[in-house]
Amino acid sequence: MSSVKTNSGRSLPDGLSAQTLAVRAGQQRSDAGEHAEALLLSSSYVFADCEDAAARFAGDRSGNVYTRYTNPTVRNFEQRLAALEGAEDCVATASGMAAIMSLCLARLSAGDHIICSRDVFGSTVMLLDNFFVKFGVEVSYVPVNQPDAWREAIRDNSKLLFLETPSNPLNEVADIQVLAKLASERDCLLVVDNCFCSPALQQPLALGADLVVHSATKYLDGQGRCLGGAVCGSVELIESIRGLLRSGGPSMSPFNAWVFLKGLETLALRMQAHSSSAMTIAKWLAQQSWVGRVYYAGLDSHPGHQLAARQQRAFGGVLSFTINGDLDATWRFIDATRVFSLTANLGDTKSTIVHPATTTHGRLSPEQRAAAGIGDNLVRISVGLEAIDDLQDDLLRGAATL
Ligand SMILES: *Cc1c(COP(=O)(O)O)cnc(C)c1O
Repeated sequence: MSSVKTNSGRSLPDGLSAQTLAVRAGQQRSDAGEHAEALLLSSSYVFADCEDAAARFAGDRSGNVYTRYTNPTVRNFEQRLAALEGAEDCVATASGMAAIMSLCLARLSAGDHIICSRDVFGSTVMLLDNFFVKFGVEVSYVPVNQPDAWREAIRDNSKLLFLETPSNPLNEVADIQVLAKLASERDCLLVVDNCFCSPALQQPLALGADLVVHSATKYLDGQGRCLGGAVCGSVELIESIRGLLRSGGPSMSPFNAWVFLKGLETLALRMQAHSSSAMTIAKWLAQQSWVGRVYYAGLDSHPGHQLAARQQRAFGGVLSFTINGDLDATWRFIDATRVFSLTANLGDTKSTIVHPATTTHGRLSPEQRAAAGIGDNLVRISVGLEAIDDLQDDLLRGAATL
């Protein structure tokens, strides 16, 4: 039997840079000697004999048993993402929400308390408020950029601090290091949803976070094809979440893992391009007479700019702005665009545009929206990889209706 492994029998050297790991990490070639990552579609695996089966079932011997537990293509994705996040380990899940649900199920018990940043992804709020509360988990929401509010919200039964930075849609920035210190002082885990930056721009574990969660659906794929998620962290923490997946089943499809593997290879290049186009468009918007405020942490004028500049490699592709007009005018503006896709999704090669007050943040009361700074005239865009001129012309198509 030939043994064609990681690199034609040669294992990867230590000390490779992130861009090389994005292309190479985690690949274990089969005896077929395939160059690209193989897509291994098999729900279960055969054993050499009964003794082998017993040992693998008992966990005394490594090796695949069933794809709900492990799959070589999914493992390849997990190892590559772990390498990029600087994590010991990673577990892949069926979606970003499956990642958040699995981590909460694995780490929380009845009577525990979780503190969550106020402007997290809407389904995260629904998951906690509609479901975890049924099992006696208490939730408090605090502004992501106010460390004192986090400090005051901590109670004796607090177990998790959960945040997204930069926030959606206003790009508010959390100081991960400060909150990581607070979490460890109070024996809590700090969990960062790193969806907006991806590991190409921000590595929360290096700043002291305990776990990173991802919706791979966004920038990791980057091309709007598949749903997936992941949690990265220490072997011990990830093992506890993997146990939940074995029993509960929200595992990643091998096909989706294979798509995400190819997405990771171009992640850093795409994130640079998204960030640079978003910066150009943010600066341009700030000079338009029909624009009120621009919310992009890349701009000097943004209150989170200094912190984001320290904590992130670039500022990402998502920004929002107000237009000088009311709700009707804002809808007209959005409806007049023809290149931007009108969708709440983000992190795609295709630019997207959405009206947060009546979609992503529509469930909030007018008072809650006002407190969160999300007015009727706010527009959020995710800047894709189209030519900047075409995107600016498209926004001007909207402006012509004002
Ligand atoms: C989309 C998203 C999620 C949920 O991910 P799914 O893959 O859609 O389940 C979680 N967090 C953030 C920040 C997101 O943008």
